[in-house]
Amino acid sequence: MDHFTYRDNQLYCENTPVSAIAESVGTPAYVYSKQTLLDHYRAISSAFAELDPVVCYSIKSCGNLHIVRLLAEQGCGMDVVSGGEVFRAQEAGTDMSKVVYAGVGKTDDEIEQAITADIGWFNIESEAEFENIALIAQRLGKQAHGALRINPDVADARTHAKTTTGSKETKFGVDIERARRFFHAYGRNESLRLDAIHLHIGSPIYSPEPYVKAITKALELIDELRGEGFEINTIDIGGGYAADYETGASPAYTDYADAIVPLLKPFKDDGGTVILEPGRTIAANAGILLTEVQYLKQGGSKKFVICDTGMHHLIRPTLYEAWQFIWPAKVAPEHVPAKRAKDLEVDGLEISEIVGPICETGDYLAKDRPLPPVERGDLLAVFSAGAYGMVMASHYNAMPNPPEVLVDGDRFQTIRRRETYEDLVAAERV
Ligand SMILES: *Cc1c(COP(=O)(O)O)cnc(C)c1O
Repeated sequence: MDHFTYRDNQLYCENTPVSAIAESVGTPAYVYSKQTLLDHYRAISSAFAELDPVVCYSIKSCGNLHIVRLLAEQGCGMDVVSGGEVFRAQEAGTDMSKVVYAGVGKTDDEIEQAITADIGWFNIESEAEFENIALIAQRLGKQAHGALRINPDVADARTHAKTTTGSKETKFGVDIERARRFFHAYGRNESLRLDAIHLHIGSPIYSPEPYVKAITKALELIDELRGEGFEINTIDIGGGYAADYETGASPAYTDYADAIVPLLKPFKDDGGTVILEPGRTIAANAGILLTEVQYLKQGGSKKFVICDTGMHHLIRPTLYEAWQFIWPAKVAPEHVPAKRAKDLEVDGLEISEIVGPICETGDYLAKDRPLPPVERGDLLAVFSAGAYGMVMASHYNAMPNPPEVLVDGDRFQTIRRRETYEDLVAAERV
């Protein structure tokens, strides 16, 4: 699953004890495993190999330049959602013909920037957006390619309301009926070739079935549209593949692929291109957030473990009610965790509220969490923090952002330095 393991009762990232990283760069700090990133990219590519997909890593999940570059060097394309991410993709040396650009609110400047960068596809989210991109492409004397984002109206019951996107009542894409009208209105435009269909049904999706349902509907639509003479050569099935937040609780890449590949094989064999947009599943388990326990405090019946990080660096627990495994970096032998799970059956654990320093009641990393006994100064690791972690960090309460460190075997490298107080005010010195 990943390269974070306990050896001699302490946590290692690959062959590096995380305590050595904390000593070197301080806490809090995001720590990523290079080998895990590469393993996940290769594993998803090989699971879907029969489709020879264009894998577009979702930059928004973990966009550090060094990580994007690492993947770009493997031939990975990118899924972007802003001009800033187009910039990141370019800076990382991405083959821009493998870039897909999604998002409902692309501005004129962003569109021009992306067309000039010769990206592969725009994911088209509305009629008004189509008309605007077509107009800008025409003005620039370029031809762009569009993938119409459709809402197949399927959802995974386990996906949080804030991260489901495939239903009719969402700001993303258009429903299937409207998609037909969309092609009739715009399917023959020359400046913006509408030659692809895009899906992204939410995240994380904990089983292959919603994909099967959604892709089946998309393929029916493609057949119908082709019958009417529209040339559709690409299907982008989006991202959302679950990461293993709890050991073994999520489907493997091969489980998704076993269900999806047979559906898309005829489309592929017919000369079609298949795009995947994984983010979370590549990055989540490749990163941890290291934090130091500052204080222990009893509040009524609750025991609070107060850390030097919280919602300002990792907002998933409070924003999505997400569960992430948290464990000390050094433990007694009986507390080496056999797996990362909610129901760990180990003696001597204490139920704790793991909270941060921010002045908000919602500032927590975990509630009612069994934890081995910890003391002030102990190091804790928040696991599966690589995706939607650092990218969502804020400066709330004037807290500088933590550094990011990339581990490669027994070496590690700072890939983003810790911010300073001066960084906090730099843009205000006007
Ligand atoms: C966020 C997003 C993804 C990636 O989702 P993951 O859950 O990280 O795999 C893919 N495609 C689109 C359009 C997205 O918005």
